[in-house]
Amino acid sequence: MSKTCALVTGGADGIGWSICQTLVAQGYLCAVADIDGEKAQARAATLGPGNVALTVDLSDVEAARALPDRARRALGDLHLVVNNAGITDNAGRTIPDMDERKFNEIVTVNLDSVAAICRAGAEVMGPAGRIVNLASGASFRPLPLRGPYSATKAGIVELTRALAREWRGAPFVSAVAPGYIRTPLVEDLIANGRIDPEAVAKGIPRGRLGQSQDIANAVAFLAGPAGAVMNGQCLSVDGGVLAAAGAGY
Ligand code: NAD
Repeated sequence: MSKTCALVTGGADGIGWSICQTLVAQGYLCAVADIDGEKAQARAATLGPGNVALTVDLSDVEAARALPDRARRALGDLHLVVNNAGITDNAGRTIPDMDERKFNEIVTVNLDSVAAICRAGAEVMGPAGRIVNLASGASFRPLPLRGPYSATKAGIVELTRALAREWRGAPFVSAVAPGYIRTPLVEDLIANGRIDPEAVAKGIPRGRLGQSQDIANAVAFLAGPAGAVMNGQCLSVDGGVLAAAGAGY
């Protein structure tokens, strides 16, 4: 019997790598798509035979558009797209202080390319496909000094809902909004002194930062049979931060 096949962007590290491992443990074959082609190759090899690496720079929207078809050709089929890759600016700049190129790069990777992959993925997968987009707690309230990141992540929620509303008989599309998760992205912010993990944990009702596996579990739920009627949803996996909005980080 042929296997269920998934494309995971930004799959070589952090949350994306956990998603790849979780999906493969559940019987999927994965295309690990990442700007870091060497790491993606190593990860695909670790996942085992049939899993593949695709090198892609999602700051190029045309390259993003081509990705679902590349994944289908490499895997033999495609049933799930996880738009996980996302970037931010760790330099601690306000929007007026940020150079326009950096601003545009964040918008392109986090939103334009996600939209392009959703559209191309729907064509490649047809009505039985599933798409899961990575939003963020920043989708609902801007994070300090991460304005463009927050704007794009708010955009992801509405893109997901708009597609679910417009696509009738087309793939189901939902989103997962992680709170702070201890990935390389967040470790980088901690190392730069931009995040104090103890202060962050105090603002989380659950009392701790999440792990990549928590997010991978939510993605697998939305992609699997238990999530069969989930469509246009954004699942917050944040230890209760959104529920306690106002308590803040
Ligand atoms: P990460 O930085 O740890 O890993 C991201 C992966 O994307 C890396 O493998 C990187 O090489 C790849 N990547 C970066 N730029 C790329 C590009 N231009 N083209 C292709 N691949 C590229 O990130 P993460 O923390 O695992 O976050 C994954 C997703 O979850 C992102 O969308 C992020 O916004 C979201 N998120 C993360 C957190 C968190 O606390 N870590 C919280 C909320 C939302």
